[in-house]
Amino acid sequence: MEKDCIFCQIAQGQTDTKLLYQTDTLVVFKDINPHAPVHLLLVPKKHIRSVNDLTDADREILAELTMVAKEMAREHDVAESGYKLLFNVEKGGGQLVFHLHMHLLGGR
Ligand code: 5GP
Ligand code: ZN
Repeated sequence: MEKDCIFCQIAQGQTDTKLLYQTDTLVVFKDINPHAPVHLLLVPKKHIRSVNDLTDADREILAELTMVAKEMAREHDVAESGYKLLFNVEKGGGQLVFHLHMHLLGGR
């Protein structure tokens, strides 16, 4: 937990953000500034800055992000129509929040 990290605070339930789903490993909530009808963020509870900082020990986290994304897509009715799973990496890759997260975008 990084004290000044907004996604750590959300993942620890310290904000008003409604969590749509959570496991021991991750939380899911709606993006505050959606770029598609369905725009969810899947966020590990562990503070990892970006994809660049992943280690071998984080393999399970990555697997769970993808498996939960698949379930969230189904629950939000975009599995059939299709969706994007996206990591922005560092400033040049469009990353604004430096706590690893996967975007799920669909419904357009
Ligand atoms: P990035 O550009 O870092 O990949 O994406 C960060 C995303 O987090 C942005 O789409 C932004 O709208 C979203 N976001 C930033 N702060 C908050 C917040 O406090 N609550 C929620 N729900 N989303 C946020
Ligand atoms: Zn964090």
